Amino acid sequence: MSGETPNQIATKSVIATSAGYFVLAAATVSTTRFDGGVAFIWVATALLIARLTTLRPSAWPAHLLACGSAGVAVTALFGLGVAAAIPLSFVNLSEAVIAATVLRHIRIPERPLESMRWLAGFVLTTGMVAPGASGVGGASVATIVVGADFAAAFARWFAGHSLGSLTFTPVFMLLFRDDLGERIRAMTHKRTAETAVLLLLVVGVSIAVFAQSGMPLLFLPFLPVIFATFRGGPLTAAMSVVLLTVVGFTFTLWDSGPISLMRGTMGDHMQFLQFYLAATVLAVLPISADLARRSNLIRELRDSKARYRMLADNSTDIILNLDVNGRVRFVSPSIAQLGGFEPSDLVGRNAALLVVAEDRASAARSHVMTLRGGGAMVSFEYRAVTASGTERWFETHSRAVRDDAGVVEGVVSVLRDISERKVIETQLFHAALTDPLTHLPNRRAFKLELERLVEHVDPERSFGCVAMFDVDHFKQVNDNHGHEAGDRVLREFGRIAMATVRGGDVVSRIGGEEFAVLLRHASLEQAMVVCERLRNAIENMVIMVDGRPVRVTVSGGVALIDAGGAEHAIRSADAALYQAKRDGRNQLQLAS
Ligand code: GH3
Ligand code: MG
Ligand code: MG
Repeated sequence: MSGETPNQIATKSVIATSAGYFVLAAATVSTTRFDGGVAFIWVATALLIARLTTLRPSAWPAHLLACGSAGVAVTALFGLGVAAAIPLSFVNLSEAVIAATVLRHIRIPERPLESMRWLAGFVLTTGMVAPGASGVGGASVATIVVGADFAAAFARWFAGHSLGSLTFTPVFMLLFRDDLGERIRAMTHKRTAETAVLLLLVVGVSIAVFAQSGMPLLFLPFLPVIFATFRGGPLTAAMSVVLLTVVGFTFTLWDSGPISLMRGTMGDHMQFLQFYLAATVLAVLPISADLARRSNLIRELRDSKARYRMLADNSTDIILNLDVNGRVRFVSPSIAQLGGFEPSDLVGRNAALLVVAEDRASAARSHVMTLRGGGAMVSFEYRAVTASGTERWFETHSRAVRDDAGVVEGVVSVLRDISERKVIETQLFHAALTDPLTHLPNRRAFKLELERLVEHVDPERSFGCVAMFDVDHFKQVNDNHGHEAGDRVLREFGRIAMATVRGGDVVSRIGGEEFAVLLRHASLEQAMVVCERLRNAIENMVIMVDGRPVRVTVSGGVALIDAGGAEHAIRSADAALYQAKRDGRNQLQLAS
């Protein structure tokens, strides 16, 4: 075809189609008109319908004109004569146009013959509507031209056209498929040999059935035809039907085979044969459509599986597939690098067992949330134990998987090791809450501690007290001994304060030379005793700087944490501290 222009191809198509149309019309008209009326069998329209569905509508007029002329010639030469030739040809073309137009408009994602929806549309249009419409025209012409009975002519026309189109349109469509040559070339020797054996089987059984007239064995050819459909696919099915047709038609015309046992004229026998063939095609087409659909599905599935495997195998993330109960159905090979497990070790095990005990409940809750989430992405973090027993942090994004009926049947997740991020996060968290000079909690941390204390009301015990300390004349320490000496004073204060308070208490550096102390569950009296001890310890502290002693004192304010809350207690202690400063420093004051 490569050297041909589109025009040459179109011309060839018109000639081939109209020649085929002429041969089929001439053969059926000359062999199946038994009483001077319309033919009992009509195959030519099937050829035209099949051809039209594969052509663009712009190419239709040329084909219709050529086939119409062929039809006129056939009717004039072999059929109802010159007078009926033009109107009958027009009726026949109209039928093909109706059927082909509807078939082109059935919107389907798959090819024709590969979906049940297409089949239903095909049977309705080609088997009912189009021959019904053309039957009215054809019977009218026969009635007017040769005085035939309208009802009988309509019935015979309808049956002949309907059965002819139902049987042969799919066959021709398969033969006209643009990838037919490609498909045949792509067949392996084994496939070719198998197809040949299948077709030989069809021919053998058909001949055996139609060469005898002793037994009504018409059901027998169904077996090899259906077998050929299952093994060989749509094309083998179509060829089987053609072979069965040729054998059945030839023998029945010779008055041989089970159909010749029937009472009635040769016309009746021919029509019954047509009916028999249509039944065969209608039995085979849904099977072949469903097989085609399945093999397309399987191919898509194979493709998507290959793509997915490529992702899963090359991802540093772990892809995990759990069933509704949390059992591992699939885990990608990357689990070996990240968790030290072989995927086969984990399949079938409950994923919760890999999660550390503390996070198990929240992981289970997230799993349930994913299942109920209606396809929404659920993210959560948890710690899991690797094969070597170490604990690592994972971040998981999960989504529910549904079956065809929409029922949730599992969860697919992507897991990422976030341990390093967690370490940095923890470090940052600590840094944000720790004073770098004294390593004591800073102002933010102190407030968090206080808030946490106040949130958990314990009716048995009071919250405790807050004390605020400020180094007296600290500026002078810096001025007289240097900033380094000042720093040492601050660190020493922290050390001594920590040594003075109880284990659960908090000492915090909340500003330059200001410290806050939380004395948990202490009464004002107890707090005053502890703070006095601290003030005294600082007063007696001597720090040697460059051989010179440095001494400092501190002032403090103490307040009870009451219903007023943390903020209020801090403000009160601060006010008391300033009172102590005003009163001469190196002393404590109680908040009023
Ligand atoms: P008062 O008795 O009224 O509290 O007098 P003071 O000099 O302690 O008060 P002031 O607030 O005037 O001075 C605080 C000084 O603390 C000023 C500042 O330079 C010093 N300072 C603040 N942060 C640091 C630090 O991290 N290291 C050192 N060495 N000095 C600091
Ligand atoms: Mg100060
Ligand atoms: Mg000070």
